[in-house]
Amino acid sequence: MDELDVLIIGAGPAGVISAITCAKMGLEVLLVDSKSFDQIGKKVCGDGLFKSFTSFLEKEVGIIQPHGSEVSDTFESMVLRAAGVDIPFEGQGFMVDRFLYGQRLLKEAIDLGVNVRVETKGIKAQVDGNCVIGAIVEEKNGSQYFIKAKITIDSSGHNCQIRKTLSQNLFPNIETRINKSDFAGSYREIIRVNEDHLFQKKLFLEFRRDIPIGGYFWIFTKGKRMLNVGIGWPMNINSQKGMKKHLWDILEDYYSDYEVLERGGHTVPMRYPLMNAVASGFIVAGDAAFHANPFSAEGHGPALVAGYYAGKTAADAINKGNFVEDQLWKYNHNILKHFGGIHIRYQLILEMLRKIQITGLEFLLKRSILTEELMKQIVDGESINILSKLRIVWRSFPYYGIIFKLRKLQKQIYLFEKLLQSYPKNPTGFPHWNAQFNKNMNLIRDSSS
Ligand SMILES: Cc1cc2nc3c(=O)[nH]c(=O)nc-3n(C[C@H](O)[C@H](O)[C@H](O)COP(=O)(O)OP(=O)(O)OC[C@H]3O[C@@H](n4cnc5c(N)ncnc54)[C@H](O)[C@@H]3O)c2cc1C
Repeated sequence: MDELDVLIIGAGPAGVISAITCAKMGLEVLLVDSKSFDQIGKKVCGDGLFKSFTSFLEKEVGIIQPHGSEVSDTFESMVLRAAGVDIPFEGQGFMVDRFLYGQRLLKEAIDLGVNVRVETKGIKAQVDGNCVIGAIVEEKNGSQYFIKAKITIDSSGHNCQIRKTLSQNLFPNIETRINKSDFAGSYREIIRVNEDHLFQKKLFLEFRRDIPIGGYFWIFTKGKRMLNVGIGWPMNINSQKGMKKHLWDILEDYYSDYEVLERGGHTVPMRYPLMNAVASGFIVAGDAAFHANPFSAEGHGPALVAGYYAGKTAADAINKGNFVEDQLWKYNHNILKHFGGIHIRYQLILEMLRKIQITGLEFLLKRSILTEELMKQIVDGESINILSKLRIVWRSFPYYGIIFKLRKLQKQIYLFEKLLQSYPKNPTGFPHWNAQFNKNMNLIRDSSS
């Protein structure tokens, strides 16, 4: 049987960028997707894509920024709201048409010589000892066959179809379990309102008492009179009302008269990234590796960037003629350095929110304790300066418990920073390191539930 260089399962942002990167480095690539050609790229999404990610792609892979009809609007800031208080954040980006942008990337891959097989589903990994040697795929007519490849990339989205079929005994370093609480369900509509809306050039996220903690309601600009509106929360929390009704009721606070142009629901991972996303002959990228931000669910940009690192790692290993776990390990370092470390901090912030609940968050915002500056310091892993500390003490009266929670969060961030600094250089040190990581992360997560 012929052996391909790289087999990629899933032609979303992660898969298509992996394919482009590998093809540019001269590899023979097969990109497989369960959808038909004219559906690839389509995804129920908030459509916000930060420019920092697309600029990185332009620099590293030469992919031109979203433009023309691929962009329905641009945004210049993101606003978090709770209890009527707003915290603005800087951040520029595009409101993309996922379909048109996804189709352009797919076409670029094809032009570079990537073979694309549509309406073909990745079913499971094919292994030889503790090495992945390709995957079993299934065509629309039900026929199954094996595709052999030096490296297989699982970019199949939140379902992580290939990763989840690995045996934990043979691949102890890579997580294969799936927990419902690591995912959020979401529902969104694209609406047209009758006048210029109030959210021009903005991504607006609202945390509310009537939305289970860990979830939020969003309104994103999509043009002068168009909005992308949605709601989501962790899948392990049931709500009597149901997501659609929740969205419609909240939307009433903003708009009573609007036309719905598009609607749909989907699942998004909401967890810190896989601490190891490689095995011999195998790499996981995008939602399949929990690469979306656990706090905001922003995963399009991270998936594009992870796709680049996956493709580059695969190409470097194949060009060296060695694609065992050790050779692919630098992928983990790249992901952690680029966005993984930040996503861990967001996870810790989310866990603190779960502890203080929405009332605690409202208190922090109403008393101006949690400000843009403080949030930035926390996310950037900076120590909180003495003036900010004094302000926090002053404003927390008489609920000083909240100061201890913030202090604890800072200590946790520091602890995880230290852990990340000692991330193993190769797979040998990983089991010990990972046991420490899991012990600390589980302690925090268990105590928030
Ligand atoms: C409602 C919602 C709103 C969101 N809003 C935003 C936002 O505003 N900004 C942002 O940055 N992110 C947002 N996200 C997250 C973002 O959509 C994802 O993180 C991103 O699409 C992940 O890209 P991916 O390539 O990993 O996976 P996907 O985009 O899910 O692509 C996976 C591909 O794999 C294919 N596939 C799946 N299973 C198989 C299989 N077994 N065999 C073959 N092919 C398969 C699918 O057909 C698909 O083409 C949102 C997500 C949701 C659900």
